[in-house]
Amino acid sequence: MHYKFEKPVSGTIGTEKYQCSIEWRNGKFIADEPEHTGGKDTGPDPSTLLLSSLISCTLITLRMYIDRKGWDIPEIKISANLFHTIQDDKTTTVIDRDISFPGPLPPDPEKKERLLEIAQHCPISKILEGGIKVRSFVYHEEAVEKEMKYPNNDITVIWKPEVCKHSGRCVTQLPRVFDLKSRPWINMSGADTAAIIDQVNKCPTGALSYVRNEKDQQTT
Ligand code: SF4
Repeated sequence: MHYKFEKPVSGTIGTEKYQCSIEWRNGKFIADEPEHTGGKDTGPDPSTLLLSSLISCTLITLRMYIDRKGWDIPEIKISANLFHTIQDDKTTTVIDRDISFPGPLPPDPEKKERLLEIAQHCPISKILEGGIKVRSFVYHEEAVEKEMKYPNNDITVIWKPEVCKHSGRCVTQLPRVFDLKSRPWINMSGADTAAIIDQVNKCPTGALSYVRNEKDQQTT
């Protein structure tokens, strides 16, 4: 199992209703709620972000396909909206996606049909229509006394078992080093120092950290 993103998308909120700061790999943006739900509308709300994701993915996928085919379609426009239906306590969300090609000549019916198929199979469509499982872990930053140390020649990895939520990220992403079935479970000979540091930095809870070893002194 490998995450799609090297750096996860993250967000924070303070007491200012309901401004969230979302950080992605190349910057930050604001999300908010509209005024009628108590926010200040300073950024897109979560449902708008969801629709934006679908729209941009569809646009990009269509543009890639059209360019590959060499078709003369200079512009693509998409709008999307959603509604919910509830039946027998089960909520179903329906997203309507309208695609148009505003250029001088509309694509012929055969091309239109193919473009519709391509749109329906864009990666975000597949995610939304496939099986999604949201796994949630609750972390809190607190002082934790217990820690275990695992040295190699360059660094010492520190593991705080009480903070580790066993989300398994280290185990799945660098199994040569992190193996729950082995003792010790962290094998510092399993990868080079750079790879271990990289993985330690990806621990979402802070259970893993490292220090560089003093030249003449090995921490054990
Ligand atoms: S990534 Fe961090 S929290 Fe997850 S299992 Fe490894 S040490 Fe524990």
